[in-house]
Amino acid sequence: YSTHSTMAAPVTLTSLSGKKITVPTGLFINNEFVPSSDSQETINCVNPATEEPLCSIVAGSAKDIDLAVQAARNAFKTTWGKNVTGFERSRLMNKLADLMERDAQELAELECLNNGKPVRIARDFDIGDSVQCLRYYAGWADKIVGQAIDIDQKTKIAITKHEPIGVCGQIIPWNYPIMMWAWKVAPALACGCTIVMKPSEFTPLTALKLSELIVEAGFPPGVVNTVPSFGSVGGAALSSHLDVDKVAFTGSTVTGRRIMESAAKSNLKKVSLELGGKSPNLVFESADLDQAASWAALGILYNTGQDCTAGSRVYVQDTVYDKFIEILVEKAKATVVGNGFDEKTGAGPIVSKVQYEKIWTYIDYGKSEGAKCVLGGEKRSGKGYYVDPTIFTDVTPSMKIVKDEIFGPVLSVGKFSTEEEAIKLANDTPYGLGAGLHSNDANQCMRVSNALEAGTVWVNQYNLLYNNVPFGGKKQSGIGRELGSYALEEYTSVKAIQWNYGEKLD
Ligand code: NAD
Repeated sequence: YSTHSTMAAPVTLTSLSGKKITVPTGLFINNEFVPSSDSQETINCVNPATEEPLCSIVAGSAKDIDLAVQAARNAFKTTWGKNVTGFERSRLMNKLADLMERDAQELAELECLNNGKPVRIARDFDIGDSVQCLRYYAGWADKIVGQAIDIDQKTKIAITKHEPIGVCGQIIPWNYPIMMWAWKVAPALACGCTIVMKPSEFTPLTALKLSELIVEAGFPPGVVNTVPSFGSVGGAALSSHLDVDKVAFTGSTVTGRRIMESAAKSNLKKVSLELGGKSPNLVFESADLDQAASWAALGILYNTGQDCTAGSRVYVQDTVYDKFIEILVEKAKATVVGNGFDEKTGAGPIVSKVQYEKIWTYIDYGKSEGAKCVLGGEKRSGKGYYVDPTIFTDVTPSMKIVKDEIFGPVLSVGKFSTEEEAIKLANDTPYGLGAGLHSNDANQCMRVSNALEAGTVWVNQYNLLYNNVPFGGKKQSGIGRELGSYALEEYTSVKAIQWNYGEKLD
């Protein structure tokens, strides 16, 4: 099936709840939905719960990216950038947040159709968090200030200004299509930047729907542009574009490396990368095992494991290993995997056929490499890219399931006897995104938190994120920080103005 990409007319989808949802199918440039300027290519969207096609949308070309960058540059120079006050940016961002909140149910149903995640979770967490993210950064928009530095008290002062960095390319993945949109758009707008957003080719629909809200909120044309396109086309064009000042990316480490290379080879644009992980979760013998098991299950099963911080390697102290696994298996079993339109569903299908197949390849590796599968590991019959919670024990550090990011509900559980050994196992990875530890020994919690090589360490909890707490990776999990005041540094450029008001040269 395919539609004509020269048409950018909206399509109407019917969700399982019976709701009719109209979705734009064009590229969003200068506040209008338009066809591609030179391409007939389409992106075919699929419902992962049914494997049925949803609709086809226009796939942007490199030329379309260029047109969107021109629109963003023009807005940056005229209506946005240095020409808009922080108060006004804040007002528009708060309006956008209100509109997202108004449309939360519809957006959640669309997210479920395209990504598979449960409507309840999309609405209450992904969208709830995104609305808050916009409001959080709306609060910052009029508080982005520099410093006044006296060189001496009589003749010279320097002033620093935190200027908007300019036109930002933002490339986002398919696992949290709305939330990643908000994490990128909110700090950029707060700082006065303009945006060319490239959603994932697997999940572009909610970014298009949100683009309608950009118009309704009253943002001037060109401030936010959305160009759905394939990574090797639109993503590559954005990261190598000579007139893009910054590229922000979330996705795989392989792609992150390419983006940095393109940035280096083109105009040395600023780059922030939020990449993969293979995050460890340590359970010490003093821990509340019931609680630790609940957090560990949430750590690997949230978003069906399609989570960059997924706690995919659990290491348990040998004295409590057997008991912990027993509790963990019961907790994991209780997670209902199913269609996201059922309010009881805790985890939906995997986003795409390719990701589904990748996960099964790893489950097969786990079996063939000799790990013991204590839960799941069996395919379901019927339609939908479903993978049930799968737990491997008796793992060794060289196994593929222990080393590689799987991005699915597949957990390996290993054993340690000393704290030193636990830390060594935890850090034995090129990644450094998240890490967790469970212990009732306060000194141990602090010691181990210090030793873990990760951008976030969760103590007696896992996977919780807050808009005012920075998030990002060490090692090969990324560069830069999102969220909190730290994200503002990613979207500003510091200018020092050096002012002489007294010194005279002889
Ligand atoms: P990906 O990194 O290929 O895609 C992420 C985004 O980058 C998409 O918008 C894609 O179109 C774009 N992209 C792809 N190639 C590009 C290029 N050459 N230049 C610029 N942009 C490009 O990830 P994927 O293929 O969707 O998933 C593969 C694996 O990545 C997953 O199995 C998982 O391990 C990991 N992943 C991580 C995250 C995360 O949040 N850290 C998110 C999604 C996927």
